[in-house]
Amino acid sequence: MTAVTRTTAIRHDFPILTRRFGGNPLVYLDNAATTQKPRAVLDALTSYYTEVNSNVGRGYYQLSHAATDAYEGARAEVQRAINAEHPDEVVFTSGTTAAINLLADTFGRARLAAGDQLVITGMEHNSNLLPWHRLCAATAAELVVVPAGADGRVAPEAFAAALGPRTKLAAVTHVSNVLGTVNPVREMAGQAHRRGIPVIVDGAQAVPHWPVDVRELAADFYCFSGHKIYGPMGVGVLYGRRELLARLEPYQVGGGTVKGVTLAEPVRYVPVPARLEAGTPHIAGAIGLAAAFRYVDGLGWPNIRRHDETLVRQAVAALESVPRVRVLGDPAAAPSGIVSFVVDGIHPYDVGGHLDRHGVAVRSGVHCANTFVDTFGVVGTVRLSFAIYNTEAEVDLVRRVLRTLTPGFWTTEHPTERFL
Ligand code: PMP
Repeated sequence: MTAVTRTTAIRHDFPILTRRFGGNPLVYLDNAATTQKPRAVLDALTSYYTEVNSNVGRGYYQLSHAATDAYEGARAEVQRAINAEHPDEVVFTSGTTAAINLLADTFGRARLAAGDQLVITGMEHNSNLLPWHRLCAATAAELVVVPAGADGRVAPEAFAAALGPRTKLAAVTHVSNVLGTVNPVREMAGQAHRRGIPVIVDGAQAVPHWPVDVRELAADFYCFSGHKIYGPMGVGVLYGRRELLARLEPYQVGGGTVKGVTLAEPVRYVPVPARLEAGTPHIAGAIGLAAAFRYVDGLGWPNIRRHDETLVRQAVAALESVPRVRVLGDPAAAPSGIVSFVVDGIHPYDVGGHLDRHGVAVRSGVHCANTFVDTFGVVGTVRLSFAIYNTEAEVDLVRRVLRTLTPGFWTTEHPTERFL
């Protein structure tokens, strides 16, 4: 099968791609924000709710056993997909943000004291910055930020140099959601481990584009969201090495977390992962996420990697052919489906609005990474982010539409305004 016929076949799996806006077919290039869902995932959700719906681990009847089996089966599939050693190293959360907040409030809070240091990079999404920022404020620890260079990369030597005797924890993104830059996580983890420092990895943008192997990466914790890898919204994963995860105190307490409760005695909590999944989990979401991993696996990672490489290289060339367009960073170095650019003299919202009038959906602004975007001295960027169903014709449409761009409302009325 050629790459083009493969992509055509894939597009048939995604019902939303037939939608039109203002007479134009939808060209969805905001996949780093969230991906569309294939029928395999939609069917898994429907089939759960029509055939299996009941609560897990709570009912002593056949339907509840079936739901529990399906939920734990999903956990085992996620375990295999990321090559974790045990299913109980996979905690279902509501997403990356929830996973990182959980870690900040449990693992981070237990490790940090006044004067300690926590190291992050300058390219973090707010979800891997604000929980640490707040934790440092609460514990009087110091947040050390290793800045990215002009090329948008964090040099491993700069990261190593930031680790010292006071460093108790490091939290780094695997892939930047702004530039698509891939951090050498394995190397960074090695540097941290040599000093006895555990490493938390924000994998939100890596999981959809690379076959992530948490053991190969030597991540102590790895967090990601289902909705960015063609799975449902509201479900995500916190992977943790068993011995570290097992030591975590419950983040939230409630149903499903206890062995025994009396009002007179200390509460006895169940082991992980249930200990960290208080309340009714997103059972259908976990099952849908497992279906998404199966779907992606069926496409084949080498095909996905080739597709990312083709589209990113084509996008960089197309953008560079448009006057006043500047591509940021070096997205073709290790293509992760993300290409960010600015149009000199035109506000990113005007660029996004112009593309939208042609049916092209992109993200423009600061991408929840204000501090990183600020380092480029721009008000914001425009981001193309690709998925398995995007085509070379769509990239070419972006090029043609950009050639007709003129300054609009934001450029003339609010050139420095930004809110997204
Ligand atoms: N980290 C990165 C790098 C991201 O791109 C995102 C989503 N844009 C998040 C964290 C947060 O993910 P979620 O909103 O699904 O929790």
